[in-house]
Amino acid sequence: MRPSSLNALFAAVTTLPGIGPRMAPLYQKLTGEKVVDLLWHRPSGVVDRRFAPKVAEAPHGKVATLTLLVETHFPSSSPKRPYRVRLSDDTGFLHLVFFHAREDWLRRQLPEGEWRVISGVVEHFNGEIQINHPDHIVPVDQMAEVMTVEPIYPLTAGLTARQVTKTIRTALTKLPALPEWQDAAWLTRQNWPGWAAALTALHHPADEHAVMEDGPVRRRLAFDELLANQLALAMVRAQMRRLKGRELKGDGTLRAKVRVALAFSLTGAQERSLAEIDGDMAAPTRMLRLLQGDVGSGKTVVALLACLSAIECGAQAAIMAPTEILARQHMATISPLAEAAGIRVALLTGRDKGKARDKILAALAAGETDLLLGTHALFQEDVTFKDLALAVVDEQHRFGVHQRLELAAKGVAVDMLVMTATPIPRTLLLTSYGDMDHSRLDEKPPGRQPVDTRVVPLARLDEMVSAVGRAIRAGARVYWVCPLVEESETSDLAAAEERHRHLSQLFGERVGLVHGRMKGAAKDLVMERFAAGDLDILVATTVIEVGVNVPEATVMVIEHAERFGLAQLHQLRGRVGRGDKESRCLLLYGHPLGEVAKARLEIMRATEDGFLIAEEDLRLRGGGEMLGTRQSGLPEFRLADLSIHGELLAAARDDSRLILDRDPELKTPRGEALRVLLYLFERDAAVRTLRSG
Ligand code: ADP
Ligand code: MG
Repeated sequence: MRPSSLNALFAAVTTLPGIGPRMAPLYQKLTGEKVVDLLWHRPSGVVDRRFAPKVAEAPHGKVATLTLLVETHFPSSSPKRPYRVRLSDDTGFLHLVFFHAREDWLRRQLPEGEWRVISGVVEHFNGEIQINHPDHIVPVDQMAEVMTVEPIYPLTAGLTARQVTKTIRTALTKLPALPEWQDAAWLTRQNWPGWAAALTALHHPADEHAVMEDGPVRRRLAFDELLANQLALAMVRAQMRRLKGRELKGDGTLRAKVRVALAFSLTGAQERSLAEIDGDMAAPTRMLRLLQGDVGSGKTVVALLACLSAIECGAQAAIMAPTEILARQHMATISPLAEAAGIRVALLTGRDKGKARDKILAALAAGETDLLLGTHALFQEDVTFKDLALAVVDEQHRFGVHQRLELAAKGVAVDMLVMTATPIPRTLLLTSYGDMDHSRLDEKPPGRQPVDTRVVPLARLDEMVSAVGRAIRAGARVYWVCPLVEESETSDLAAAEERHRHLSQLFGERVGLVHGRMKGAAKDLVMERFAAGDLDILVATTVIEVGVNVPEATVMVIEHAERFGLAQLHQLRGRVGRGDKESRCLLLYGHPLGEVAKARLEIMRATEDGFLIAEEDLRLRGGGEMLGTRQSGLPEFRLADLSIHGELLAAARDDSRLILDRDPELKTPRGEALRVLLYLFERDAAVRTLRSG
């Protein structure tokens, strides 16, 4: 249970004074639902208002706080003209300038003949001094409140800077006194403040150093978050290692048959990965291994061979895919090989109903099915295996951890192989999997043609359409991916439908459309027609992103490529170049294209190495912003920025190893404090792995 010392921080934001039902949704959107989320909302910079010159000394472009006598109001003569107020001190005068101002409000704030403290950006304009829309106007006795270093927070519509600052500072008053969880010697060496002091310094910055990403305050807080992340992963891992597994060592008979039936021999990377998997499966502990391999690197056959090992031992295996299309594709690839080996394979998806489904389930429970392929339908309650020994989860980021566990619970001591085609940079791998065992397919099957990638402005769309027309007449098959308009699927769809209409007008019947809103059967039908060559062009939203295999497709057009994450572009491009024909990828971009966007598309043009692309994307955009990150289910950090605090991550990993070596049950005083840290960063599940948790 979460320690009660954290209760105030984990209360809803509405427990803070001044946040009622109207404000709460705004804060939820900006920071989160809980008080603690406010503390994690970090300033992007500071405004120093301590500079207090006289009018005559106030330089152009600087933030200044001045004490001035209000002289005269000049209401605007027309809605287009500003409202001006003249103020002065003993060295000169200036004007405050307001557009769309309410006169009654201004007269109350700035009564003629009284002194006021004004803070804002000073401008010298047409030989006069002015301040447009000053940030603060207060009576002289409140000067001390204005003349500070003010944090600048990211905002959301409906909340002002002043409100957000005030709310965060209120949240700060709820800070409990917590025991120090960091190693004292390490803190001293790094010259870092304590936790509460760091948070206070962040939200009451003494100067800009307090909010700088590589300053001691931010580094201390980032390290707390990274340590919680690494420690939690290490604990879950340690628990896994304590679980008994079963020693699965096949005799190789089934494998030998499949190897003969394969039209190719395995690549070195496939053989190496398979040997690593075999090692895990044969060990008396539970396997949890990640198989990473770019699209087209041949994960499916590795998964199948692993399954055969379990089946040779008389047990069952399952391969789970995130979509119907992929599950069917696995079935298509695997069933001829399974036939050659003489094993029994079944497919179970959400579409199987009634009698047909009952039959599949009965065969599975009776042990008459050796290998079950399918989708989420696999972990429905009434799906029971006779003896499940190996579960493979394909494109595992599409599934939650609990789903993985549900599948594992369908057998005894189930070995687990998870696969992903999202190239994950090493740093990010560490944050989401910790020290999880992993194998990399870093070598493509032979005979693959490189994909000729071009980066082209959307303005040349007509030209590209003509080129596509020529390619089709020469027998090519074309994917046309439509832009991610917003988060909303409806607008994605509208764009795809529009392009489908447009291309159909030009190329007639042989243009298909596939999108996420379509029913499973309809989707499959379109995909099948494209695979069979009945369609020349497949217009799609990103539903084709994951795994689909049509080796005859040789052209990939991506509209508004700049709106996609690099990982996603890489996945999309991986749909072509799968056969032996030359392939091409056209990345169409809209204007204006910023420097970073340009650099990102240039990387796509320059390389097809998914790992390199992922590293570069991380470098260019930082971990939190990586579009691919969200899709790949990697954690997002609130305080750490991996493009800046990457080296702290390695330190956190080493520290968590050391901690668990010395104090595996977190029972020492530091261990107790670390439990609090885990709860603070909502790693409750990790604490529950402790016997005394
Ligand atoms: P992914 O890793 O994207 O899941 P797949 O397993 O779908 O890749 O494999 C892509 C294609 O490459 C398939 O058509 C598969 O038959 C083929 N393939 C796999 N391994 C090899 C190999 N060693 N040599 C030649 N082709 C291979
Ligand atoms: Mg695959």
